[in-house]
Amino acid sequence: MGEEGKKKERSGWAKLDEAKITAAYDFCSGYIDFLTAAKTEREAVEQISKAALDKGFKTMDKIDELQPGEKIIMTSKNKVAALVIMGTQPLEEGFNLVVSHIDTPRLDLKARPLYEADGMALLKTHYYGGIKKYQWPAMPLALHGVIIKKDGQVKHVLVGEKADDPVFTIADLLPHLAKDQMEKKMSEAVNAESLNALVGTRPQVQREEDVIKAFVMNLLQDRYGIEEDDLVSAELQLVPAYPAREVGMDRSMVGSFGQDDRVCAYTALQAALEVDAPARTVICLFVDKEEIGSAGNTGLKSLMIENMVAEIMHKAGKNEYYSLRQALSSSHALSADVNAAVDPNYPDVFEKMNCSFMSQGVVLTKYTGSRGKSDSNDANPEFIAKIRQLFDEAGVIWQVGELGKVDIGGGGTVSKYLAHYGMEVVDCGVALLSMHSPFEVASKLDVYMAFLAYKAFMQKFSPRMAASKPATEKRGDEPWPKSTPVSPKWSERLAEQRK
Ligand SMILES: [Zn+2]
Repeated sequence: MGEEGKKKERSGWAKLDEAKITAAYDFCSGYIDFLTAAKTEREAVEQISKAALDKGFKTMDKIDELQPGEKIIMTSKNKVAALVIMGTQPLEEGFNLVVSHIDTPRLDLKARPLYEADGMALLKTHYYGGIKKYQWPAMPLALHGVIIKKDGQVKHVLVGEKADDPVFTIADLLPHLAKDQMEKKMSEAVNAESLNALVGTRPQVQREEDVIKAFVMNLLQDRYGIEEDDLVSAELQLVPAYPAREVGMDRSMVGSFGQDDRVCAYTALQAALEVDAPARTVICLFVDKEEIGSAGNTGLKSLMIENMVAEIMHKAGKNEYYSLRQALSSSHALSADVNAAVDPNYPDVFEKMNCSFMSQGVVLTKYTGSRGKSDSNDANPEFIAKIRQLFDEAGVIWQVGELGKVDIGGGGTVSKYLAHYGMEVVDCGVALLSMHSPFEVASKLDVYMAFLAYKAFMQKFSPRMAASKPATEKRGDEPWPKSTPVSPKWSERLAEQRK
């Protein structure tokens, strides 16, 4: 590897003084609490709303007239949230938008989950998002979610998070009997239909059949007042039943379930809470369903952003269709999502000149996609230049990132759904190890730098910064010299070396 690569490997920690290092550690203690409290999108929306209301954000119905500096919290379906901070500039000039997602790969319960087999009651699951199925058996799981009864009553379910709560688990096959399993491909070793979680073994003695299932159902009835059919209108998720933790003897990392993409959600949230009287209106949006292709009415493939911006503009007295189109197409966005950090255990899949590293700062990802950038938002260099200027001026440590070697896999983010409106978008987030696993790892430095990056973008980004200068006179179409002249400096160095 050449000089550039060596320079790149220098740790970001070495660039920070003690005060900044302490600030990064302090910031992450709040982050760790957030990860432990918000393991589902609904819980994330609750945490975001609470934090915003505490900081004086108001719901739209409490606002008569939109004034510059006004702070608004909007939510949708309990699974999407947005913080809006009104700027002084006209809305048609566009927004500074930071979009993260608060859904995360996990195991959802099926509509009819409960059954009995071989003296046990179990819960059937259907995995959500891109998981490696073998990672989920043989660990403690907690059940989070809601059950909506036919009359509309909402029952909140949260079992397995308190120290004395029972937990659930998916049993794994013992090595003694796993000869055939161990010879299978990893993708086939654990079958999706065998991801059934243990939920009880005691029988309901008065019954003749399904006695163990009946015992569990009785417990559910006593606690939540529900019938088995009520599980049809439920949204229940099995997630790892352990809290987020510090990782490493130097405590320099955070380990947790769900950091993709709550690491960007939390840092964007904290940034939005600190933004004050910006010139351009800020929208800090938290969306659902990214992990399953941004589908559904809580995912970004819907008209969610358009409807949200229309609502803001309507409240501001701007009802013309053209103003809405202008506002959207003049906006600038950071698609706040994670990238993969180079993992020394798997060096073969990374191209180290262009992949991102732990503790080297927030990651700017120009493009994602696969098979030749297919399905990617390929950010415009004019926009990236402005972001470079912004980050450098704000003291943000940043690096470039590409998702692994070319043609080795790939992935995507919500950026293309934002670009759809004509706005400028680039992916910008934190590099993770063990992404999409039940225990993802981030560097505290990178988490803190994401916060600083989002804050600078929300507060200070202007499309007028680093405005395109007129093209230089030399366009590069003059002929190349017949022989390459050696620079005087270079000949001095050669002479020096020969001594
Ligand atoms: Zn993801």
